[in-house]
Amino acid sequence: MKNVLITGASRGIGAETARLFAQNGYSVFINFNKSQQQAETLRASLVGCGYQAEIIRADVSSSSDVGKMFDRIESSCGGIDILVNNAGIAQTKLFTDLSDDDWQQMIASNLSSAFYCCRRALPHMIRQHYGRIVNVASMWGQLGGSCEVHYSAAKAGIIGLTKALAMEEGLSGITVNCVSPGVIRTDMTSHLSDEDLNALKNETPTGTLGTPYDVARSILFLAGEDSSFINGQTLGVNGGFVV
Ligand code: NAP
Repeated sequence: MKNVLITGASRGIGAETARLFAQNGYSVFINFNKSQQQAETLRASLVGCGYQAEIIRADVSSSSDVGKMFDRIESSCGGIDILVNNAGIAQTKLFTDLSDDDWQQMIASNLSSAFYCCRRALPHMIRQHYGRIVNVASMWGQLGGSCEVHYSAAKAGIIGLTKALAMEEGLSGITVNCVSPGVIRTDMTSHLSDEDLNALKNETPTGTLGTPYDVARSILFLAGEDSSFINGQTLGVNGGFVV
């Protein structure tokens, strides 16, 4: 049974991804930071159905927290086969209003987190000559989002990290890809007004917004055997918003 770590899996896209991997026979580590109750409820529902799931707290914007999380995972199962770097935060602010803290927190939560987790996950993957890394970017990292410059920069960084790491690790039997979601209905987009959501829907060629399940099944595909020759790619899950 393959082990998968999904960061930020207490809610939204991460929780749906954890559910889908568990249902497809993977042993799932559900990382959370603040939402312990939601992570516990998710774990209990999966274990109750006979699936393999554990929760593990770590603030993935912290290198030392990530180190402790991997120490625990490695002592329980040796290491992970699949890493999904999903944890992230968003913030809407004019660029000229961004504080140093806003910038640093955004980069740490969305980009440095992936660096810390990849760095710790890779030695085991390299030793076993097998691994899958799937990073969660955003279409704003491709297009650039007004009033989300720090978020867009972090997500563009994720796309760059994905491409370069894919080059470096290809010969080690490891693929590195990312999904780039469009507008997905989760807590992250719950602050948007109906008017804004309708405008975004109308801008999307499919005329719909995405669901966490849409993203989760793309992640599952990139982590599975059917995608073994796909490496360094950015898979848009956005209804055609970016073509
Ligand atoms: P969400 O519903 O707000 O959930 C965010 C998740 O990230 C939560 O489980 C949260 O855990 C976790 N998290 C945040 N900071 C963390 C940290 N420092 N350490 C550990 N976990 C942390 O967001 P979502 O919509 O599912 O987004 C998931 C990913 O998709 C993010 O990377 C986001 O940028 C990306 N994305 C989302 C959309 C969208 O429209 N929703 C579009 C494109 C990309 P706790 O609550 O436990 O702290």
